[in-house]
Amino acid sequence: MLEQTISEDSHSGPQVGPAYLCLYGHFYQPPREDPFTGILPPEPGATPFANYNEKITIECYRPNAEAGNFAQISFDLGPTLASWLESAHPDVYRQIIDADYQHRIRYGVGNALAQAYNHTILPLATTRDKQTQIIWGLNDFHHRYGHPAHGMWLAETAIDMECLDIMAQHGVTYTVLAPWQAATPIDPTEPYLVRLPGGRSITIFFYNAPLSGGVSFDWNTTSNADLFAASYLPGHLVASKRAAGEAQLLLIATDGELYGHHKPWRDKFLTHLIQSGAPSYGFEICTLERYLQMHPATKEVELRVPSAWSCGHGVARWDTGCECTEGDSSWKGGLRRALDNLAARGDQLFEQYAGEILSDPWAARNAYLDLRNGWRTTGDFWTQFAKEQHTQALVERTLQLLEAQYYQQCSFTSCGFFFEDVDRIEPRNDIAFARRAISLYWQATGIDLQQDFLADLRPVKSWRTHVTGAELYCQLPLVPKGLLPPSASLSS
Ligand SMILES: [Zn+2]
Repeated sequence: MLEQTISEDSHSGPQVGPAYLCLYGHFYQPPREDPFTGILPPEPGATPFANYNEKITIECYRPNAEAGNFAQISFDLGPTLASWLESAHPDVYRQIIDADYQHRIRYGVGNALAQAYNHTILPLATTRDKQTQIIWGLNDFHHRYGHPAHGMWLAETAIDMECLDIMAQHGVTYTVLAPWQAATPIDPTEPYLVRLPGGRSITIFFYNAPLSGGVSFDWNTTSNADLFAASYLPGHLVASKRAAGEAQLLLIATDGELYGHHKPWRDKFLTHLIQSGAPSYGFEICTLERYLQMHPATKEVELRVPSAWSCGHGVARWDTGCECTEGDSSWKGGLRRALDNLAARGDQLFEQYAGEILSDPWAARNAYLDLRNGWRTTGDFWTQFAKEQHTQALVERTLQLLEAQYYQQCSFTSCGFFFEDVDRIEPRNDIAFARRAISLYWQATGIDLQQDFLADLRPVKSWRTHVTGAELYCQLPLVPKGLLPPSASLSS
């Protein structure tokens, strides 16, 4: 039907409005290495591969990179995944980075977006942590892709007005949200402007929910790319825009791992859809930034805040718990309280002790990722941030405190709160990152944050296995004597 209409229109009669299709992939893996050794432990579930990162690389990252799919879609590659891929599979990593470069050569704008650094649920973070997450994410992007990011993906598309404004202050011009995050009526085939304080604004692309959900969860939808383009896509176009000759965009946003890992062989579906399925049925493949260049947002929208794409209860899924996950989710509130209390205490120590030689400890933390990753020299870092007088011992202590802050940020990785139970690898990893921060504060200041953290973790209980958060902490791999305070006892 559509093919017929388009071929008729292309020869004679009134011009129909162009239909664009954008595929968006959020490519991300949480950090899972042991924070004391830096080694990713073997993951038996990934057999015959050593771990899930290796398995997903073979099933998804590599085939999509080799097929050239990254050059045709909009995507973000989470910093923790990018950093693993860079060292484990540098050829795949280079192909992905190069996709953005090729897109820039062709269209003058990139097709990669940054990601807030640790996949933190930003509406639940302090203002200072929001800033650090956004700045680290943007710095990481700039270093990898060689130009500043314009778009930024937020973990779980979780927003509040403050994080959008901080993004805009740092040069981010657009992000992607679910349609139900709009508080005023929208037509998801076009981008919208959100007004922010100080005359700033940010553009929002709302993804097409039925199409994105179908691609993510309905196996049949993606069995045939031609059928998908012919029978699923056309029904989502706005007929009046077609008739009026106006452009419109269908945006399908999903986890990138869907294409080959969650759904085997769907990397091939993506290649076929991009290369021939969609174009044969009248859709031009387009990326978000290229679309913005041609058709900037003209209408405004108000947003529901806080909100996210995978919770219908604000951001309760990662906070107090809600019925988005089965079973008793009250452990989530307890785990968050434990991590929040630890972070508040850690922040006090950081400000007090690092403040002895850093003129602005928080500005130094925002720049720490660059130092940690070797993107700027130690000399340059200390010249900018250190007060005049400082000894080597004070420098070393301050580096431990900055590293403690790094792991404190890792402890808020959203995956720890996403699933149904606390007795799983994801919450355990968040607790392991918190323990690394405790160890570094202990080494730097001799102050024990472990005791209070354990006290906070005791009431956090698995509804499946009845294991407590404190037990999960004590089950973590042993570390050499002296690295942790001697208080790790389960008795209160
Ligand atoms: Zn929910």
